[in-house]
Amino acid sequence: MARLVQKFGGTSVADVDRIKIVAQRVKREVDAGHELIVVVSAMSGTTNQLVAWTNQTSEMADPAEYDVVVSSGEQVTAGLLAIALQAIGVPARSWMGWQLPLKTDGAHAKARIQGIDLEQIKARAAQGEVAVVAGFQGATEDRRISTLGRGGSDTSAVALAAAFDAERCDIFTDVDGVYTTDPRIVARARKLDKITYEEMLEMASQGAKVLQTRSVEMAMNHRVRVQVLSSFVDRPGTMVVDEDEILEKQVVSGIAYSRDEAKITVANVSDRPGVAAAIFGPLADAGINVDMIVQNVSRDGQATDMTFTVGKADITRAVKVLEANRDHVRYERIVSSADVVKISVIGVGMRSHAGVAQKMFQTLADKGINIQVISTSEIKVAVLVAEEYLELALRALHSAYGLDAVDAA
Ligand code: ASP
Ligand code: MG
Repeated sequence: MARLVQKFGGTSVADVDRIKIVAQRVKREVDAGHELIVVVSAMSGTTNQLVAWTNQTSEMADPAEYDVVVSSGEQVTAGLLAIALQAIGVPARSWMGWQLPLKTDGAHAKARIQGIDLEQIKARAAQGEVAVVAGFQGATEDRRISTLGRGGSDTSAVALAAAFDAERCDIFTDVDGVYTTDPRIVARARKLDKITYEEMLEMASQGAKVLQTRSVEMAMNHRVRVQVLSSFVDRPGTMVVDEDEILEKQVVSGIAYSRDEAKITVANVSDRPGVAAAIFGPLADAGINVDMIVQNVSRDGQATDMTFTVGKADITRAVKVLEANRDHVRYERIVSSADVVKISVIGVGMRSHAGVAQKMFQTLADKGINIQVISTSEIKVAVLVAEEYLELALRALHSAYGLDAVDAA
């Protein structure tokens, strides 16, 4: 007998028939004697629709009311799954975030979990009742509904798994695991049996959409064993585990990409102390995240260019902030471009191997692909290239690092 948390994403609960299939899957674990918390997302497409409605009602929607609206999709699926379970003889009860409660801070639309009360659920689970928890939502100190950011039901699931002392947290999604890269672009991408927390964290934050980044952070901090798998096939997925569970460490385990970046160049700023602070301080104050940064060597010891990336959604605001600060920064002009993509090669084996970055640069050079910005961390090398080269670059890098499946499907 074990305690398990199973989370079903939007495609797994997309309609009533699929919810019934999920109920059967949950029943199997219950019949095997396990104690279960099930976490559900909204039906696929629902949250997008709810977000669109709030935006149509007002572009400046009160975040607390935004949360009331966008959290509602999970209420529907939690109730339906509880009904489907009861209908096949499995005792089940649905739980909204405020009913547990799953307590969060007051940062609506991107709230952070502060604590979870599982007393009731634990007692009922011991009696064989399945808890069906609405993912993505919680409650603030003043008892308003909050949400954990898009994709947040992954984080709900991992947090519940930690609080429940679950042996494993299964995340059912529309892919059957974590791949070396996007299989829609690279046919020879391979499913990984295991990946380390650190690699998964980089993959998620560098653009792989399979898990919400915060859920991986939380899994890593609480050592929750996470499995990513599909509810449509009956196969083991990818386990996200501690580094010492992986015997053969790959130099590069995976290649992620993100189309969500945009590039900004502040041209001809003077090369003097304080310039970086003058550029990036106001951006930080405006809540704009800056990712990659390069500062050119100054041409004549005086003027230089500062190039960096921000989220595509922030580009207009970022340019406005810079223009508003022109008096402090003093630059010639701002050039921005959204036609870029960031490609990152990731692997814990990089720590002990030289030449990983060089292989990336050479491979891209051989294909005539120009690198616009570079950034690195201990287990990652990322480059910014023109968006039109995404597919070519991914395929070439996937081969160069020896990641291709031997017999391509
Ligand atoms: N339904 C929410 C979203 O689409 C949360 C989730 O599915 O993880 O962002
Ligand atoms: Mg998701």
